Amino acid sequence: MARIIDGKVLAAQRRARVAAGVAEFCARNGRAPGLEVVLVGDDPASAVYTRNKEKAAAEVGIRGVLHRLPDTTSEAWLVDFVASLNANPAIDGILVQLPLPRGIDVNRIIDAILPSKDVDGFHPMNAGMLSVGREGLVPCTPRGCMALLDAHLEAVGEGLDLGGKHAVVIGRSNIVGKPLGQLLLARNATVTMAHSRTRDLPAVCRTADILVAAVGRAAMVRADWLKPGAIVLDVGINRTADGKLCGDVDSEAAMAVAGALTPVPGGVGPMTIAMLLENTLLAASRRVG
Ligand code: NAD
Repeated sequence: MARIIDGKVLAAQRRARVAAGVAEFCARNGRAPGLEVVLVGDDPASAVYTRNKEKAAAEVGIRGVLHRLPDTTSEAWLVDFVASLNANPAIDGILVQLPLPRGIDVNRIIDAILPSKDVDGFHPMNAGMLSVGREGLVPCTPRGCMALLDAHLEAVGEGLDLGGKHAVVIGRSNIVGKPLGQLLLARNATVTMAHSRTRDLPAVCRTADILVAAVGRAAMVRADWLKPGAIVLDVGINRTADGKLCGDVDSEAAMAVAGALTPVPGGVGPMTIAMLLENTLLAASRRVG
């Protein structure tokens, strides 16, 4: 029976650590770290995500501000708005919630964010820093996956070095798959990036000691795709026909084969917000020197 890697418990621990760090930051600098979240339009899922981010920031003492902008907001206006947040010294982190309404070039907006305030880690400068192994800001979901992996390895008494291990990442998005591949590589794993054009995906997955599913297809990864004992990180968030949340892994069946598995909900999801708070504190601490 696979060990469940509990993201809720780990996220609560990490948030408590951020709260302590924020208190120290306030004592040293006479102000709280500032996070500005920008929501453009009325996508219902984005509205929930941004509200959760605002609430989570407040809980750890970060001064979080949520800007709700109408879907008629123009690209040029948004670029100017981001520039005003860049220029404000009391603001340490800027997050523009994706997806943006049609008509706004997402790359132009990401490029407009000052890399040192880019707490989502999506700016090409931060993506480049990650790929050359230099210090920048790392996207939250991949960081959360690594934290879950480390917590599991520690709990079962295994070393954190992934040398000799084969990690397969399904999904090559800039937000999850690619940066996670880089993080695993930096930890000495042998990494295979799989995606929609990969031939015989089940066979590739069966070679994985660590399997990450970041696709967005409910229960796509079947139990017979798994190497017995594999560590499985399920990033996918999907809704079943009856409205329940489920991941990319057929978790019920996978429990009998995998060595460890992150649940959906309660696995990677809670870690993403915890890592956003960590990134905000990190960005603030680096900015004040
Ligand atoms: P995306 O749509 O940008 O990328 C999906 C990737 O899956 C692509 O690279 C594509 O090549 C690959 N893919 C698609 N169909 C495939 C198939 N049949 N076989 C193999 N690969 C296939 O998605 P994303 O933004 O990377 O998100 C992936 C999933 O993770 C989604 O379900 C999303 O909701 C979820 N997600 C969760 C969190 C979290 O906090 N838990 C954060 C971000 C994304």
